[in-house]
Amino acid sequence: MFDFPRSLIAFQRRFADEAACVAYLVAQRWPEGFRCPACGHDRAWALKSKPRTFECTSCHRQTSVTAGTVMHGSKLGLLVWFLGAYLMATHSNGISARQLQAQLGLGSYKSAWLLCAKLRRAMVDPDRKLLTGLVEVDETTIPYRTRNEPVAGAPGRSHRAKMALIGAVETGEHGPGRIRLAPIADYSAASLHGFLAAEVATEATLKTDGWAAYSGAPQAGHEPHIVGAMAAHIVLPWVHRIFANLKRWALGVYHGLRRKHLQTYLDEFAFRFNRRRARHAAFRSLLRIAAKTKPVTYKMLIQPELQG
Ligand SMILES: [Zn+2]
Repeated sequence: MFDFPRSLIAFQRRFADEAACVAYLVAQRWPEGFRCPACGHDRAWALKSKPRTFECTSCHRQTSVTAGTVMHGSKLGLLVWFLGAYLMATHSNGISARQLQAQLGLGSYKSAWLLCAKLRRAMVDPDRKLLTGLVEVDETTIPYRTRNEPVAGAPGRSHRAKMALIGAVETGEHGPGRIRLAPIADYSAASLHGFLAAEVATEATLKTDGWAAYSGAPQAGHEPHIVGAMAAHIVLPWVHRIFANLKRWALGVYHGLRRKHLQTYLDEFAFRFNRRRARHAAFRSLLRIAAKTKPVTYKMLIQPELQG
């Protein structure tokens, strides 16, 4: 498999046109060469009349290279998708839909927003591994903004609505490892244990502030450190640093997060954090996951609860 571009110039050289993007997706989907999904034949013609589509020379079944991927059904060209993925993956802080619209020269804000939303869905690898080792866990709250309230975080607005979230980070000798973040409905054992069961390996050891609801969690080890509220950042330094970075990021890039999209923003933050030492490899993994992420509609994206 070829390397991934390490600069914008290298990107443009590597993906000079639509055909280069199609070739990339073909190699992703059929690492051993094309196989007709209907009859298994290994020869196909690229259709001139239908971009991104191959026709099997044996059974004539037509196969789109974007079928079954997050790119399917999009009116945007693959070059726009690829460059969007590159910018989103390699920007150290991420990029808002409005910035992406300007950078890609897209006609409407809605299509930029859709592109961002679909790429963000490709930021969770369905095959990712659970956190292991000594794992710091804590909860925090983050203010959210509503439709009528464009910018969050105005000073002196401590009464503003906040949403609760939980974070977990692997700790190592050389600083934090991977992280996971998720919204929680409350601080009950059911909410906390649900998150821990989904994200942390059972053989891991949890390090918490001793909040009672953590006891009985599915993990084998538990190191509760009972502390006053002021000292939690000393006992759990990494998860607190991550919360602080997350809040700064939410304000800086998005001017506050929307409540119903919280999980996808948290996924983007975690994607970026977990690949912070290899931003250019992040482009490759974003495209790789995008190629195995099922297509979604605009309606599913604006109403995340419909996704079940
Ligand atoms: Zn066939």
